[in-house]
Amino acid sequence: MKVSDRIAGLTGGGPDGWDLYRKARRMIAEGVSVTELTIGEHDVRTDPSILEAMRASAAGGHTGYAALPGTDALRTAVAARIEARTGVPTSRRNVVITPGGQAALFAAHVVACDPGDRALFIDPYYATYPGTIRAAGAIAVTVAAEAERDFRPDPAAIEAALPARSILVNSPNNPTGVVYDRATLDGIGEVARAHDLWIVSDEVYDTQVWSGAHLSPRALPGLAERTLVVGSLSKSHAMTGSRLGWLAGPEEAIAHAINLTTHTTYGVPGFVQDAGLFALARGEALETAIAAPFRRRHALAMRVLSSAGVRVVPSTASMYVMADIRPTGLSGEAFADRLLDTHAIAVMPGESFGRAAAGHLRIALTVADDRLDAALTTLANFHNTLKRQAA
Ligand code: PMP
Repeated sequence: MKVSDRIAGLTGGGPDGWDLYRKARRMIAEGVSVTELTIGEHDVRTDPSILEAMRASAAGGHTGYAALPGTDALRTAVAARIEARTGVPTSRRNVVITPGGQAALFAAHVVACDPGDRALFIDPYYATYPGTIRAAGAIAVTVAAEAERDFRPDPAAIEAALPARSILVNSPNNPTGVVYDRATLDGIGEVARAHDLWIVSDEVYDTQVWSGAHLSPRALPGLAERTLVVGSLSKSHAMTGSRLGWLAGPEEAIAHAINLTTHTTYGVPGFVQDAGLFALARGEALETAIAAPFRRRHALAMRVLSSAGVRVVPSTASMYVMADIRPTGLSGEAFADRLLDTHAIAVMPGESFGRAAAGHLRIALTVADDRLDAALTTLANFHNTLKRQAA
């Protein structure tokens, strides 16, 4: 039987850019000791106290169908967290709980776009973006953020990609670790206002900011009414496997998103929501503790790579750093492949995140400090040898 063109075309065809990741997994399965710096998975598991809250909720009977938009208590707690972090008045009616930020990204585009509408997103980008937009029936259109601008999008480039119904932005950014400053967000906001675009703001890394502050576009003058914020406890609370996130925005849009959950996911398990409520009630102290290793390793990585002469994208956030390996003359893919073959170190080629990050590597800071230090030193030496050969 023929499947729909929409599902057949979901990934856009061609290689998906994750060959290196799969090769590293294969090597590990064969018993090779690979230093795994590919995906954004914490090297600690969900805190035992959160698991105990999950167990107690399930044992207490919260195992039936849960409230579909999310429990009142969790929606209220998420709203309070958003209001505390951004100053924007937010109530539970502005929030729908979703199975992870991923489901919120999908919901946001269904809310914003009709079939065939153009939905913009910034390249480099988190790998699921184009497929998520296509799953929602829209046309995925990239706007390149140039390496030379440290991957901050240029509002003029966004304008050049119009017409569109929405623009998806991700700050703090995966893969670059860059936080958009006020001027960048003002520029994006101006284009959005002038051309009546929705802004989908993916803020799942909002607790991983190492200097300066994270600014949500929803907090800028006149943007709350056109901004849909994607949030998640995956990164902030090391709860990637619990699949707990949210979409926040104008009440009417959220009412429609709730309607969508009724007809797609049918909500999030009640015991997972209760675990999330418990996690949020532990406040900023827990978020800071979970972020602490990445704060430390980000500083370590910037220091080790820069002092060895590897150019690093100046970044102030996230559990990743991006190295610019163009002086070696190799693509990110070729470099990463050779690094894996010769030194059993796995990093993601920049090309996995779009064309704009070609010739770069994304390094996830997800192993113990001493192991990371050793791997980065090896990577830098490898880079310098190739660079000399290229000269
Ligand atoms: N957005 C970005 C930028 C991400 O990196 C991720 C996960 N790696 C997600 C969204 C989705 O996260 P989750 O569905 O686990 O909340």
